[in-house]
Amino acid sequence: MRIKHIGAHVSAAGGVQNAPINASEIGANAFALFTRNQRQWFPKPLEDKDIEAFKRNIDELGFSPDYILPHNSYLINLGAPDPEVLKKSRHAFHDEMQRCELLGLKMLNFHPGSHLKKISEQDCLAQIAEGINLAHQRSKGVVAVLENTAGQGTNMGYRFEHLAEIIDQVEDKTRIGVCIDTAHTFAAGYDISTKEGYMSTMKEFDDTVGLKYLRGIHLNDSKKELASRVDRHASLGEGFINMALFEALIQDPRTDDIPIILETPDPDRWAEEIALLRSFLERE
Ligand SMILES: [Zn+2]
Ligand SMILES: [Zn+2]
Repeated sequence: MRIKHIGAHVSAAGGVQNAPINASEIGANAFALFTRNQRQWFPKPLEDKDIEAFKRNIDELGFSPDYILPHNSYLINLGAPDPEVLKKSRHAFHDEMQRCELLGLKMLNFHPGSHLKKISEQDCLAQIAEGINLAHQRSKGVVAVLENTAGQGTNMGYRFEHLAEIIDQVEDKTRIGVCIDTAHTFAAGYDISTKEGYMSTMKEFDDTVGLKYLRGIHLNDSKKELASRVDRHASLGEGFINMALFEALIQDPRTDDIPIILETPDPDRWAEEIALLRSFLERE
């Protein structure tokens, strides 16, 4: 029987060990989390007892690290033009990789970075790749998972070509991947609001980046129109993306073996949204 790995970006308030408990309560078999307070540049290190409790909880609740996709802090900008911010960002990114390693996790999801109109897009992409290379050299195993963006402000990563250009400059291709966010994809101008649009966008992704790099999905509806370049997530069915996209994505065998994570705005609806998504597979 085919199963999908569906969950949400759950709270880790009170400690990382609470994330799998929160995920289990909404019927998830995948989840995302922040492994630290994401508003601080220098968060306190993980405590051994929390690491052990996290590992015990994922084990007892039946989660696999293959379907856990930690998200890094939004403070980090690997493309930062300011040398001080870049330095802090690279340090924090490396710290996040180490946290994943300690927790037995395999991936770290992040937004590529912003040029803030102070350096060129090309230089920004090169800087991001360099940051990934440095983090790779100083850590083991964890895959850096680039997320495509809506292209709000000066964020890079709103074109698949940006992701390809970064990957091209990453030395260890076994430790780089991509997470596609449906709301970002749509807001960036890829019309995935129908099944046909989804299929042709996946083809474009494969031709530009390569499906072998696809390591996760953020599944969100979009409060903003196609090509708005504005990043506002909506609960499923409450935005501009047709439910046909979510159905096509769930029925697509290419998303069988990767985590599918909701970042929709209403946590009270996650259990219902997960059940709805699972029902698409049964309907096939
Ligand atoms: Zn996302
Ligand atoms: Zn977003």
